[in-house]
Amino acid sequence: MTDLHKRTLSELAGGLEAGDFSSVELTQALLDRIGAHDETLNAFVTVTGDEALAAAERADAARAAGEGGALNGLPIVHKDIFCTEGVKTTCGSKMLDNFVSPYDATIVERMAAAGAVVLGKANMDEFAMGSSNETSFYGPVKNPWDLARSPGGSSGGSAAAVAARLAPAATATDTGGSIRQPAALTGTLGIKPTYGRVSRYGMIAFASSLDQAGVITRSAEDAARLLGVMAGFDERDSTSIDEPVPDYVGALGTSLDGLKVGVVRQHFDEGLDGDTGARTREAIAVLESLGAKAVEVDMPNIDLSVPTYYVVAPAECSSNLSRFDGVRFGYRAPDPEDLLDLYCRSRGEGFGDEVKRRIMTGTYVLSAGYYDAYYLKAQQVRHLIADDFKNAFEDVDVIAGPTTPTPAFRLGAKVDDPITMYLNDIYTIGANLGGFPALSVPCGFVKGLPVGLHLVGHHFDEATLLRCAHAYEQTTTWHTACPEAFE
Ligand code: GLN
Repeated sequence: MTDLHKRTLSELAGGLEAGDFSSVELTQALLDRIGAHDETLNAFVTVTGDEALAAAERADAARAAGEGGALNGLPIVHKDIFCTEGVKTTCGSKMLDNFVSPYDATIVERMAAAGAVVLGKANMDEFAMGSSNETSFYGPVKNPWDLARSPGGSSGGSAAAVAARLAPAATATDTGGSIRQPAALTGTLGIKPTYGRVSRYGMIAFASSLDQAGVITRSAEDAARLLGVMAGFDERDSTSIDEPVPDYVGALGTSLDGLKVGVVRQHFDEGLDGDTGARTREAIAVLESLGAKAVEVDMPNIDLSVPTYYVVAPAECSSNLSRFDGVRFGYRAPDPEDLLDLYCRSRGEGFGDEVKRRIMTGTYVLSAGYYDAYYLKAQQVRHLIADDFKNAFEDVDVIAGPTTPTPAFRLGAKVDDPITMYLNDIYTIGANLGGFPALSVPCGFVKGLPVGLHLVGHHFDEATLLRCAHAYEQTTTWHTACPEAFE
């Protein structure tokens, strides 16, 4: 069977169920593709071929015995930010290049218990700080649509692997847009659930009040399947919320009758590339043709989301990353002169430039003389932004707009200009600041490069977002497009 890589996760589930092929055959086919293409793409930090084949064998045996969970025998990839027992977990950093986790993250554990087969660990920006995958210690990931361009970040490896059909789905994380932005730039679907919906246990922390785990897939149905397994209360994460998890797959339908879609006025200003804006408007028109009603909404504080984020996120990361000191775990500089030299050189040599920039910014905004002016102020503005969403949600069910201001940019184009790089997440960060669920679904092309429609939902209403994206996919073909070199 030569076309297994072309199928979505749901199609593969059907094929396994029907006995058309085994999980071992499927896993081997994808490992062969990874072997053939990953040198070009650099989407993986680690490929776990032997472990994957062993897991596939167990899944086949379980199926033969009439057992097996919701993901039995289905191959996935984990972003290298999730701890995986016995397998290196680097977070894209030299600091953790030698770190083999002694335990599994909750989502890794839940997906394994459901029978998923892990093909490997995906490349990412260092500690998830970045929008282009260029901050990774393991080098940039290439965009399968144009190898000279970035796949976005920080979950660039996850997005590129799914877009290039090296895996049907991948886990990812999103602190300011790192699931949705790479999904948009690679023509895949990415969903960031509500803050607290998916456990953060075993997910290496960047900015704890913003970080959330989700998935990158090739369809809304696939995302619904995976989210159903990942989501739900976890007593090991104190911010996990004990809310019932709905049947996400069961909630999918084709009509959007009566759905109210808010279109944010501020998102269509001069910062948005004209063609990307046009694709977004066309996508909103498709939602209307399916029964939705679009209304303009005003979010007066939304333009403050990037500066607010770049105070809050660095502040939290400066605290979270203080644990990497060369003593407890991680990189340790050789032959230190004394303890101070050990700390300074381990951190100096173990972290890359972007991570250092964030730690320094974070330490500054939290320092005694500046705390009120920056950190406290940012927390206040964060509330105003969340209130903008809450006010909009008084009238609408979802908020729609572009996921990114432009399609994929060239590798190297923004590395020396952090502010321009930061502006990539201008439309996505608001959802993190307010803890709202959001997704990006492919909505067309600009000069041969994919772009995404961004949808934000009410807290805990991932189901409506998935329903919307699914209905949209039933009348469009953007999500099925495959980069030519990876057919
Ligand atoms: N690009 C943003 C940053 O660099 C968001 C990253 C993320 O969501 N992990 O902080």
